[in-house]
Amino acid sequence: MILVLGGTAEARELAAALDDGGAAVVSSLAGRVANPRLPRGAVRIGGFGGPQALARWLVEHDVAAVIDATHPFAQRISASAAYACPAAGVPLLRLERPPWTARPGDRWQRAADLAAAAALVPGLGSRVLLTTGRQGLAAFAAVDGAWFLVRCVDPPAPPLPRRHELLLDRGPYTLTGELALIDRHAIDLVVTKDSGGRLTEAKLDAARERGLPVIVVDRPPRPDCETVATVAEALDWATHAGSIPVEAAHLAAADERRGRGPVGGPS
Ligand code: NAP
Repeated sequence: MILVLGGTAEARELAAALDDGGAAVVSSLAGRVANPRLPRGAVRIGGFGGPQALARWLVEHDVAAVIDATHPFAQRISASAAYACPAAGVPLLRLERPPWTARPGDRWQRAADLAAAAALVPGLGSRVLLTTGRQGLAAFAAVDGAWFLVRCVDPPAPPLPRRHELLLDRGPYTLTGELALIDRHAIDLVVTKDSGGRLTEAKLDAARERGLPVIVVDRPPRPDCETVATVAEALDWATHAGSIPVEAAHLAAADERRGRGPVGGPS
């Protein structure tokens, strides 16, 4: 069985393609989102109980390979997989979408983490579209002199920015929609994690079009492990990783239907 550590659009796409190819695949979700988009095939939900418990789970469930397709900012589960897979003797691949890259006209400021991003806010804007997700909003709680439009999938827990409005929404987002949002709320600064992917990048296009600064939070360091950027490459790895019963021809056909370019996702 192949275990896909999921929670992203790529993970869902990968699980569907593996399923198409006749592989036994189980997708694992953290269970953080109240109403998650479910991948095709078998799904388990909830933490494993740490790295050692994950290693035991891999052995007990006779896992042949693990593909860690979690979000670029989901640090702990990736560290857990990087410990557990070698400990259990199971091959591990990381599937991670490429970061965004600035284009002509972009006014990006890089920040090492959420605290550094919060420190940059007062110098750059006063009406902020904050899209860094539900976790870590506490970093912005003490920012004075700015109002925040906080956009996330599920309601966040306090502490939150003192002056804010909450917008519960889930991508994909369009350029038209993002421009309308920026104009309606007189946004003068956008804050985002460097999540990458097409489905949430419209905010960057909209900011460029309106000439707005964007604070882009860098990705955290990742464990050292074999990494690919596309679902197609992960499928190739699964096909060639050894004893995994994946019909290469089926995978190629599924791959063909989906196109082989990088994909991205809002979650
Ligand atoms: P995290 O800090 O790396 O994970 C915290 C704990 O949640 C892990 O130690 C693990 O618990 C459990 N967990 C996380 N992902 C899991 C998975 N796919 N299957 C089983 N357990 C999982 O991650 P996070 O930031 O809370 O993110 C949780 C999920 O949301 C991930 O699947 C991620 O891809 C997705 N996501 C994260 C972000 C983000 O910005 N962080 C954004 C969008 C989506 P145990 O130690 O008990 O195993």
